[in-house]
Amino acid sequence: MYTYYIGIGSNLGDREGYLAFAVSELTNIDGVCSVNHSSWIETPPWGPVEQGPFLNGILKVESTLEPLVMLDTILHIERLAGRQREIHWGPRTLDLDIVWVEDEAGQCVRVEISNLVVPHPYFWERQFVLEPLQEVYPTFTYEGVSIASRLEKFRELES
Ligand code: ATP
Ligand code: CA
Ligand code: CA
Repeated sequence: MYTYYIGIGSNLGDREGYLAFAVSELTNIDGVCSVNHSSWIETPPWGPVEQGPFLNGILKVESTLEPLVMLDTILHIERLAGRQREIHWGPRTLDLDIVWVEDEAGQCVRVEISNLVVPHPYFWERQFVLEPLQEVYPTFTYEGVSIASRLEKFRELES
């Protein structure tokens, strides 16, 4: 059994509807035992492309699926939600990223192949990932730094 922390976002069309759709699709997959999620937060777009605000969150998924199968599963759900890959980091109906994975012993699972890198390479730099991650995983630490103090840094920079 693995615990997946999956970043979810939408900034096109019925954003809340797409997030709810993803939760319900994932819940119905064989090998997915439970799906819980953070609250949805509205965040400004990230990266160089001008686009509307996102609704973001984190899904906490207990599953027996291996990481590559989980990747196929979430890419399939994105396609069902009409996701088109036109502009890199551009607007999308649904984006699902595997952010962090733990095995049954609570150890971080690492994957580094051409189509899957876990932990997600940018997660620690993205406030819109860390805010909802803290909600579902308040004791999370990365390289000796607690998620609370990491978020404190972001807030200091903002003020
Ligand atoms: P970013 O990854 O910086 O958030 P993005 O989500 O816009 O950018 P996509 O176009 O959605 O990028 O994804 C492109 C590819 O990234 C996917 O087809 C997938 O193979 C690959 N990928 C690599 N690592 C991951 C991961 N941890 N979770 C999801 N996709 C990943
Ligand atoms: Ca993404
Ligand atoms: Ca993605």
